[in-house]
Amino acid sequence: MTEPAGPVCDIPAPHEGPVRLYPAGWLCSAHSPWRALGLPEPPPAYQPHPQQEEDPR
Ligand SMILES: [Zn+2]
Repeated sequence: MTEPAGPVCDIPAPHEGPVRLYPAGWLCSAHSPWRALGLPEPPPAYQPHPQQEEDPR
């Protein structure tokens, strides 16, 4: 399987930090919801949408 080179922030502005998948889409640290609220950066393992493991049949 081939994966894209990397996610890109949806906001057309100077970016900062790693790009992560938020409910609003792919956003970098500068445009993330927690930054807008003035919250500290979440840990790298933070996942807004935890992936559910699929049981093999
Ligand atoms: Zn950005």
